[in-house]
Amino acid sequence: MDHDIQAGDVGAGRAARRDEAVRAAVEQGLLGAGSPVVGLLDVTGIRESAAELRAAFDAVVAPGTPVLHAFAVKATPLVPVLRLLREEGIGAEVASPGELALARAAGLRPEMTVLDSPAKTPAELREALALGIAVNADNPQELERIDALMIPHSPKGVGGTPVDSSRSPLGIRVNPQVGAGSIGATSTATATSKFGVALRDEGAREWIVRAYRDRPWLTRLHAHTGSQGIPLSLLVQGVAEVYALAEEINRRIGRRQIDTLDIGGGLPVNFASDATTPTYAQYARMLAEEVPGLLDGRYGLVTEFGRSLLAKHGTVVARVEYAKSSGGRAVAVTHAGVQVATRTVYAPESWPLRIAAYDAKGRVKEGPVVVQDVAGPACFAGDLLAEGRSMPVLEQGDHAAALDTGAYYFAHHYGYNSLVRPGVYGFGPDGEGGVVFAVVREAQTVEEVVAESGGAHVEALTGSPLGLV
Ligand SMILES: *Cc1c(COP(=O)(O)O)cnc(C)c1O
Repeated sequence: MDHDIQAGDVGAGRAARRDEAVRAAVEQGLLGAGSPVVGLLDVTGIRESAAELRAAFDAVVAPGTPVLHAFAVKATPLVPVLRLLREEGIGAEVASPGELALARAAGLRPEMTVLDSPAKTPAELREALALGIAVNADNPQELERIDALMIPHSPKGVGGTPVDSSRSPLGIRVNPQVGAGSIGATSTATATSKFGVALRDEGAREWIVRAYRDRPWLTRLHAHTGSQGIPLSLLVQGVAEVYALAEEINRRIGRRQIDTLDIGGGLPVNFASDATTPTYAQYARMLAEEVPGLLDGRYGLVTEFGRSLLAKHGTVVARVEYAKSSGGRAVAVTHAGVQVATRTVYAPESWPLRIAAYDAKGRVKEGPVVVQDVAGPACFAGDLLAEGRSMPVLEQGDHAAALDTGAYYFAHHYGYNSLVRPGVYGFGPDGEGGVVFAVVREAQTVEEVVAESGGAHVEALTGSPLGLV
């Protein structure tokens, strides 16, 4: 089958669902005077992506190979989303106490959870090991902390031979140093990246082999080569380096100690159209061609995709409060700006978003196209979702939608101007040709903003002990 055509069909279905959802959100009053901006999540689309991910790897691994797809929680840290993915057989990759708490609140079992983070405290490590959650150590100092936690469990007591007394599968994260993609901030495998043990640094390979030889309980190896902006070929190269290292370690220590490879996430997302490209299937086939030994059943697999599972299933919709003209430029002032699209506003070259125009009733807007700015509500000049964009003219009362924002956007509120976190709603078919919504996250209230802004400590700086007596 022609994969572009297939991807196009999927994209068209998704766009149609999105258009219906925007209209329904206006009709049902989710979007209105009191709630001028909302985040919408396409439940059907999320389920489809989860199924595509599972199918893509099932098609290339040897039968019976254990595969855990762990969703990178940071991409969309919302409990109902994690629960939906759990229902689709997807686990969680967490990187902070907050993310671990979200995964647990969603009911993720320890076997479905992986802890990565470059700055784990002793308390976090202790909790993860007590729960039996998989941990990838970032660096030698962290490995020493894990050593200290393992030793007391040894039958010989402190100072005895460490034994595998934790149920946690444990590994080391390496930085394959294969280079950067087109976005520096999401390139984790540069020569000087802060993540993992830098594999090509002098002495690093020897240190790693020794670390595994000395610790029979280290059974995993992990790398995450980068996120958006990394070409597929570079992702595959990162995985190939990890596979080669695992083979070398197992050969040199004379046993198949590493039994699972965690290949990270990072599949890029197409923000330029509705087509899903690249696909999980393309990536899995490339891995099968370039690193066949990875999939022949000798290693279990862990993946950690984030953006590619959720981005295309989220839409921020905002009312156009005012439409004005400034220096000859049409400017639509909307309620979606830096607070919901932080990366796009601060780094528009790296993170351009498509903007769709809907009228006051939430219908797709046709009509004359003009060059215009789509601005947000925040008080700085750069608060623009799109600059100089040719699109149907947005008028007062219309709606502007920022597309493909299901990951790293509206779930990542930025508190500029004390703008409230918008409500997030999941949507799906109501069974009668319409759209039904469910609350995923309530909109924040201004009372909550006050409470989170020191409202309970109003006299902290003027009363005792700091105030003038
Ligand atoms: C961010 C991150 C991921 C997910 O990356 P995506 O580009 O969203 O797929 C996976 N693993 C680790 C360790 C990460 O930091």
